[in-house]
Amino acid sequence: ATPTAIMVATGVGANNGVLIKGGDALERAQMIKYVVFDKTGTLTQGKASVTTARVFTGMERGEFLTLVASAEASSEHPLAKAIVEYARHFHFFDEPSTTKDTQNHSKESKFSSWLLDVSDFSALPGKGVQCFIDGKQILVGNRKLLTENGICIPTFAEGFVVELEESAKTGILVAYDSALIGVLGVADPLKREAVVVVEGLVKMGVKPVMVTGDNWRTARAVAREVGIQDVRAEVMPAGKADVIRLFQKDGSIVAMVGDGINDSPALAAADIGMAIGAGTDIAIEAADYVLMRNNLEDVITAIDLSRKAFSRIR
Ligand code: ADP
Ligand code: MG
Repeated sequence: ATPTAIMVATGVGANNGVLIKGGDALERAQMIKYVVFDKTGTLTQGKASVTTARVFTGMERGEFLTLVASAEASSEHPLAKAIVEYARHFHFFDEPSTTKDTQNHSKESKFSSWLLDVSDFSALPGKGVQCFIDGKQILVGNRKLLTENGICIPTFAEGFVVELEESAKTGILVAYDSALIGVLGVADPLKREAVVVVEGLVKMGVKPVMVTGDNWRTARAVAREVGIQDVRAEVMPAGKADVIRLFQKDGSIVAMVGDGINDSPALAAADIGMAIGAGTDIAIEAADYVLMRNNLEDVITAIDLSRKAFSRIR
């Protein structure tokens, strides 16, 4: 390609909200064989919402939600935000969350007074959160988090989680004072364009792959909805980059599309890292392409631009 062709492609990209960091990245994109998508916040809207909350003990529903929301209040994870939002609605259902700023502030402070004091908070990437409330440990996250802490999951609870997962929801388990006290189900719908984009890539001869830290059952259910056959689930944050390297082994050019902090090592490891513009700064820094419109159609636009600028045939 001529320098002019590169300049034109970069300019057309910029006009469409596709920011390309350099001519090398633009050149590599035409040869992409695999596009590996992160699930949460990339294929899905990242706007998770709680659909079910089941308490297993005699604890009041409100008390349960307050405990869980207090534990999740310091987490930035979309699942945590969904849980806090749900608890807020439970307590203040008469105050819509889309009112003016000032009202939101007063509501926040009113809500904050309901949140319990938390100590020794830690976020465990790929697992959940852990902290202490009233001197007792609370764990909110997946099976791995609970089993690693010696909490046993009774058969009826396991059955309930499986049911949630088979309907594409993420089951979140809650243990307090060494016992499982409840489960939440969280749904995160696909982006509207996700199915069409996956179809489009296949038509272009590109193989779509999904990678996620979420469990296998939920991952398969989501992959089925979006039309992706190749799924890698229960991947710990550091493992996403290994998945990329696996696909690169035979010399294939691999693109990674992601939005989260967890995705940045994979975005860096990929031949082409594409960050969702609405994602975290760290992901954007690690990427070669930034998709400013937060629209997956731009993955196709990016490949098209490169093919047009560099193809010897066209
Ligand atoms: P993804 O790769 O889909 O973005 P993550 O690696 O962020 O997923 O998280 C993997 C899993 O870890 C989640 O599906 C959830 O089960 C659990 N998890 C992570 N953070 C939290 C949290 N703050 N609260 C509850 N569960 C969490
Ligand atoms: Mg994500």
